[in-house]
Amino acid sequence: MSKIKIAELFYSIQGEGRYMGVPSVFLRTFGCNFKCAGFGMPKGQLSTEADGIAQIADKFKLYEELPLVSTGCDSYASWHPSFKDLSPMLTSDAIVDRIIEILPFHKWEDEHLVITGGEPLLGWQRAYPDLLRHPKMRGLKEITFETNGTQPLSEEFKDFLIEWQMPQLDFTPEVTFSVSAKLSCSGEARHEAIRPDIVCEYETYGYTYLKFVVATEEDAEEAIETADIYRAEGFTGPVYLMPVGGVESVYTLNNRRVAELAMKNGLRYSDRLQVPLFKNEWGT
Ligand code: SF4
Repeated sequence: MSKIKIAELFYSIQGEGRYMGVPSVFLRTFGCNFKCAGFGMPKGQLSTEADGIAQIADKFKLYEELPLVSTGCDSYASWHPSFKDLSPMLTSDAIVDRIIEILPFHKWEDEHLVITGGEPLLGWQRAYPDLLRHPKMRGLKEITFETNGTQPLSEEFKDFLIEWQMPQLDFTPEVTFSVSAKLSCSGEARHEAIRPDIVCEYETYGYTYLKFVVATEEDAEEAIETADIYRAEGFTGPVYLMPVGGVESVYTLNNRRVAELAMKNGLRYSDRLQVPLFKNEWGT
């Protein structure tokens, strides 16, 4: 039976992108190929918040005890090696049993599954078929993979995605790829972060959109130029701008300005509802 290293598994409202407001189960896998230490920092500087917390990692026995950060990746504990012991390796059976326990009617109704990270399309692609074919997952209609858009799909996983989206008696299941491609404000190298060849392939296997995290007009301009690069390679999906801000003080500085930038440029705006609603606490 397949196993996945799970950083968090919880039930909440999807706060971002296409399914904003939809009750959702979040499965946060462990591991990422990036650090995104540039978020919320002055241009050219990198956050050291996560590394600072890592130095006192043994103080924390539970994932939800970890402090939130106002700079860098707000999900740092889902990839930073110092916190790996807080993320258990669980079998498909154990994950499914926990999902059924937290669903409000203890079976899939109208809820949506978000597989996030970290970067959920790293090695875990091989484990998803076993999890998603589990008999107790019947009735699930919509899955979103929240990805940074740098990981190609394996041949086995592509076959599975086609199989999973075959029409059922009364619905057609749908996979979405929510691609948060990283701009220079993330601190990641552009040639590694912007991979239109990979994202264009996602469009063959699911509804795919781009979601850029921005703070300034300069970031929005970079998002538009970057979206054009994806378009030039054949990308056809929608483009969202989303405000930077894993904590409310940063989010409220940015949200209105980013909404206005989205309107001005004819792009979609994505909120981060988990910040004003739940203060972005772990498990929300
Ligand atoms: S890609 Fe996402 S999870 Fe990975 S470091 Fe960047 S923001 Fe964090």
